[in-house]
Amino acid sequence: MSLLEFEKVNKYFGETHVLKDIDLEIDEQEVAVVIGPSGSGKSTLLRCTNRLEEIQSGEIRLDGVPLTDPDADINVLRQRIGMVFQSFNLFPHKTALENVALAPKKVKGVRPEDAEADARELLERVGLGDQVGSYPSELSGGQQQRVAIARALAMDPDVMLFDEVTSALDPELVGEVLEVMRDLADEGMTMMVVTHEMGFAREVADTITLMSEGRIVERTPPEQFFEQP
Ligand code: ADP
Ligand code: ADP
Repeated sequence: MSLLEFEKVNKYFGETHVLKDIDLEIDEQEVAVVIGPSGSGKSTLLRCTNRLEEIQSGEIRLDGVPLTDPDADINVLRQRIGMVFQSFNLFPHKTALENVALAPKKVKGVRPEDAEADARELLERVGLGDQVGSYPSELSGGQQQRVAIARALAMDPDVMLFDEVTSALDPELVGEVLEVMRDLADEGMTMMVVTHEMGFAREVADTITLMSEGRIVERTPPEQFFEQP
């Protein structure tokens, strides 16, 4: 069974049919890169997976459990799906450490000293061990985005969703964020990644999913995808 399954998923914004009968299965440890023209529905697909948007029909399942299951605890399901956005959305008046430790403390009830020890470890893992006391305004965009990744990881998710996380960065800062994502992939994290970084797609993806006008029009290994004439 796949970790994440989409079955006949349809999403409308008013009259606009944005996701059309999406069938997709993401296996455990798969790095699924999603590409396609602007407006094709990539971001909406991720946002529906995290229930930031509601779908109108079909089903999205995590480990076989529908995200819409009325008996499932949506907060628990959501904790299992980490998401990182184009904008960093860090709390400006909290340090990197506090940003990462906050949700485990508040949402999961982890003891403060444990949450902070975990946060320190996660920040080290994304290469920010020396910035734990820094505020977002004191960090570069690339560093802030790495804090955002650490913050998502702090909930110990089963799958991570990345929505164009390098698109707002200065070009020289893109590499350090992609490197963290590559490390995560190497460690076996299941990931859905919307990106324009074709080098990353070619080297790190297990599968390329091509969207166009709300449909999945292709799903192939990168070797095959990038070899096409
Ligand atoms: P992509 O990520 O591939 O650029 P999006 O998922 O952002 O595509 O958008 C898909 C379509 O849905 C676009 O036509 C966009 O204008 C529309 N859309 C996205 N978000 C909303 C929204 N909140 N309200 C109305 N339409 C939206
Ligand atoms: P992205 O493709 O990176 O998601 P967009 O510019 O498509 O960026 O969307 C930015 C925000 O505006 C998103 O929150 C999206 O839901 C919303 N949005 C996009 N298209 C529309 C639309 N046609 N009507 C209302 N909101 C929209």
